[in-house]
Amino acid sequence: MSQKEIQESLKLLEKDWDVDPILHDFVLGKYTDVTDFSLIVKDVVFHIPYLPKEKKYILWKCYWPDCHNCCDRQGRLPLTSDDLIQIGHGMKYQKTSDFVKEETLVATHDEPTPSGGFSVMTNVSLKRKIDETENDDGTHISCRFLDGEGGCGIHPTRPGVCYMYPFSTWAQNEKGRPRVHATFQFTGDCPGFYLSESLDSMKEVLDDYSTTIYDYNMKSSRTLKDGFGSLSMS
Ligand code: SF4
Ligand code: SF4
Repeated sequence: MSQKEIQESLKLLEKDWDVDPILHDFVLGKYTDVTDFSLIVKDVVFHIPYLPKEKKYILWKCYWPDCHNCCDRQGRLPLTSDDLIQIGHGMKYQKTSDFVKEETLVATHDEPTPSGGFSVMTNVSLKRKIDETENDDGTHISCRFLDGEGGCGIHPTRPGVCYMYPFSTWAQNEKGRPRVHATFQFTGDCPGFYLSESLDSMKEVLDDYSTTIYDYNMKSSRTLKDGFGSLSMS
């Protein structure tokens, strides 16, 4: 996501929500006195931004159902192989192949990695609008499954990636074993970030998300092994 897109998203967000001026600058990359506080919760290493001058962490809580920006401004919905089966069944397709043909598209995108490189990913993604094409990948589209009350029309079989926002996650080789990491993605769309001197208010959330994030990583790597996508790093 480009800096210009983040700026536009934040501008839209601030029409409806109050954003702390420090967080505003941080999201735009103007507040740079930040360190990475690593916290291991079960099988996941969370990277929480810490602002030494303020003596505060950047934490998050979800305002749903008052907010459903992540469904309104969804960039893409990559599917795991488990998603393909479960969402296909949920949408009453007899065959997964028919679901894939009618409801998904294949798109490739690249993104920076936490180690400063680039990853190129090809995914089978759920169409967010019925006539979505590869050219729409990465653009903001209000998801067709979002209902009038902010609910998801295919819940509980919604894509695994929908349970992840606003975290982004990756796995790294650590002494021959995969170690799952997670951090926040600051796209300018989420009003839930706040500053706090203590991590206490987020401990329960991190505990819940640790399991979700770890499971999602395992499903994603299984998806690549199953041949429903590819990933290359540089
Ligand atoms: S954008 Fe943030 S606050 Fe809003 S529903 Fe999504 S995660 Fe929750
Ligand atoms: S599938 Fe459901 S949870 Fe995911 S973006 Fe669409 S409405 Fe939101």
